[in-house]
Amino acid sequence: MASEERAERLGARIAERGIDALIVGDLVHPGDSGRDAIADVSWLSGFTGSSGLALVDAGGACTFITDFRYAERAGAELPDGFELVIADRNLVETLADRLEGRVGFDPQATSVRELRRLRDGAPDGVELLEDEGAVGGLRRVKDAAEIEAIAAASELTDAVYAELEEAGLGGRSERDIGLWIERRMRELGASGPAFPPIVAAGPNGSLPHAEPGDRVIAAGDLVVVDIGAILDGYCSDCTRTYACGEVGDEEREVYGLVLAAQLAALDGLRAGASGRAVDALARDHIAAGGHGERFGHGLGHGVGIAVHEPPRLSKRSEDQLLAGDVVTVEPGVYVPGRFGIRIEDLAVVTDDGHRNLSSRPKQLLELS
Ligand code: ZN
Ligand code: ZN
Repeated sequence: MASEERAERLGARIAERGIDALIVGDLVHPGDSGRDAIADVSWLSGFTGSSGLALVDAGGACTFITDFRYAERAGAELPDGFELVIADRNLVETLADRLEGRVGFDPQATSVRELRRLRDGAPDGVELLEDEGAVGGLRRVKDAAEIEAIAAASELTDAVYAELEEAGLGGRSERDIGLWIERRMRELGASGPAFPPIVAAGPNGSLPHAEPGDRVIAAGDLVVVDIGAILDGYCSDCTRTYACGEVGDEEREVYGLVLAAQLAALDGLRAGASGRAVDALARDHIAAGGHGERFGHGLGHGVGIAVHEPPRLSKRSEDQLLAGDVVTVEPGVYVPGRFGIRIEDLAVVTDDGHRNLSSRPKQLLELS
């Protein structure tokens, strides 16, 4: 979908909400935004820099503000229909000048400091109103080109997994493998990892967000590997848990339980299902196997320009799945001080089920 069409659809939403315009962008660190913080702006405009704010009106007209560092890039990346403004001072002050009427801003993406700056700079009569998630709601459902971009990022990740399975794990440190994964991703064309790779062996696997450390992987270890790549601006996310050599019966048994839970959840993944119901399919299975207390995180999350975005699959999710959502399904069991097991696939939700974008095998592989 072209940026103009996105701006038009956003304009229609703005009109529905009874406001005149909406500020899109990062009002926490404007001028120096991280990838996730600027995701709404990149989705809307195609801009790939780290400094940009957009003002969209109810007719879908878009004014885009960046600073001199990105003048050339914005000129090349923005659609012709967008008005490009190079800020002559602070981005937010430049934006404030242009506000008129009732203007929405996303409270989730706005700091108190920048809101004050906006208020101070806005002409008299401007009303600033909280309006959460207007862009996020549109961004959530992916079009065909976005799905192919995510699928390609996922394929790249799978290629790295295939090499890792071939190379084996034993005798290498978690950190070494993490660095190797990052390098291979870039060599295969990724602009970088979607998040720092997780390589967690033995007891380290019981920490769902372990940082790769100096532990040298040895026979008998279960190893959780959770990685994602950024390719053409879109992320992938996939986890596999491998055995280094032979592991014990309990590890195998719990692995089977997590895999069965993952398959049950994938089976229930379809448009119309609630994020809570799909989460429960995996959670109930793990609870019935006696490990309910050891699955402490949500089942999954949306993936797109950002690696964590709506919708959520969790106990507290209020989301209803839509065709075109791209979500992870990643149950895990973490046994403190001993091991962890997580299996994560990335899938596109369809009307009658899903398309799985992760292709690596899921039976427990014993690697060298
Ligand atoms: Zn992951
Ligand atoms: Zn994930």
